Amino acid sequence: MIPQGTPALRATETMEAIRAHVLAEAPEVAAALEELRAISWVDHPVVERAALAVCAWQGLNPAVPANRRRARTVAESLLSGEVASPGGSSGLPPRNAEGLRHSLHWICSSSFVYELRTSPGPLPALRLVNRRCPALKGPRASRFLAFLAFPAFVMDGPRVRWLRRLGWIDPAEKSHARARDEGLRFLVALSVQADMPLWEIDRVAGVFTGAEGHGEAVSLCGRNPRCGRCPARENCSYATAMSLSAASVHEEGNGSRRLREAMPEADMPREKLMRAGAEGLTDAELLAILVRTGNGRQHAVELAGAVLRQAGSLGQLSRYSIAELTRLRGLGPVKAVTIKAALELARRLAPRDEEPQLPAVACGRTVYELVRGRFLNARRETFLVLLLNAKNRVQREVVVSEGILNQTLMHPREAFQEAVKDGAAAVILVHNHPSGDPAPSRNDRAVTRRLVEAGRVIGIPVLDHVIVGEGRYYSFEEAGTLLED
Ligand code: SF4
Repeated sequence: MIPQGTPALRATETMEAIRAHVLAEAPEVAAALEELRAISWVDHPVVERAALAVCAWQGLNPAVPANRRRARTVAESLLSGEVASPGGSSGLPPRNAEGLRHSLHWICSSSFVYELRTSPGPLPALRLVNRRCPALKGPRASRFLAFLAFPAFVMDGPRVRWLRRLGWIDPAEKSHARARDEGLRFLVALSVQADMPLWEIDRVAGVFTGAEGHGEAVSLCGRNPRCGRCPARENCSYATAMSLSAASVHEEGNGSRRLREAMPEADMPREKLMRAGAEGLTDAELLAILVRTGNGRQHAVELAGAVLRQAGSLGQLSRYSIAELTRLRGLGPVKAVTIKAALELARRLAPRDEEPQLPAVACGRTVYELVRGRFLNARRETFLVLLLNAKNRVQREVVVSEGILNQTLMHPREAFQEAVKDGAAAVILVHNHPSGDPAPSRNDRAVTRRLVEAGRVIGIPVLDHVIVGEGRYYSFEEAGTLLED
């Protein structure tokens, strides 16, 4: 079936446009298709089959009569048992000649048609040829089946690349085998939809992608595609993505308008950066400057926030590959490439040999200074765990609970889960009192005792528990109450 979300009609139109282009530019392909259409693959005389195998082996186009004649001569000389030598009429080095002769013997045998006919599908047929013909491996085998007009379709590298560009298979799929199978399923459906035999699609795609070595005028979708001349560009996701950089100027206008509608001009990221400097912007606002535009539902800042939420954090985002970035909702190839470039620059600027500059915590005050900003005007209690490395630098901050702190709800498992995962050397507990008074309650003391005890058992010591109030703090360590029973 044509995969969900693919506009089937457009896929058919695209295929028709590509076929029309190939047939108009390469009349010899049109003639070859006519010839193939007129015969069944089992009707080829034995020596013709062998000649087609030689063409596939040498990468020759059998539609050219001179190629066909030359291939037939080579096939006949090998089948007649003539040992290839520099003077032999096959003209092949002995090692190649031996492999090819072995393959031709099977191709000319009576079991050839039977074995191929009884293979359960196109891919098994390809594997069969690969197994039985030492000279025809990989793309050569698929070329041979296509030359025979065997009702199989097997894609090699250029065809898979073409399918990815058109968006007919997932561009992020890394496994070539899976991409090839997905492409095959798609093209089987397309063949029914477009009423075009699979082998014809294969031949047209082979010529269009340059896999079959035709001239430049016809092979548009090669390694460096010439989309400007391509009749399929209207429906091609690659061409659309690539023209985004030009279109983004226009798009930017729309996105900015939406942003302008959603927030006062002074709060817009670019204006804010010019006014207050880059340090005054949140991660989402900085990212919004890179992505530049939103989409139909979100403006740029909302989109950037959603991307950060999907990734988990900026740090996580920096580890994403382009393929993973484009899998995030709202990021196309252009935005993904821009983000990747910015994150790579940041990575290169970061000091390599020194330890990353993580904040160090030496006492209750440094913890308080570090976290006070996040509790300004907070109306709810929030319980944090700071994960420390062996040098007492904060690796990460984890929110464990929000709401009233209650020792029955505060389970050590939640408090230490991330610390264990990250291999933290120690932790510091932090929570706030929205009342502004940091004095610990009886419940705070009970929670502290429980977590200090749990940390001791699992080998991740609790170095302090800091309660943040209004302009003040309470440190269990400084007050000497951390280890009290
Ligand atoms: S528009 Fe470009 S990428 Fe798309 S099929 Fe045509 S040549 Fe290939």
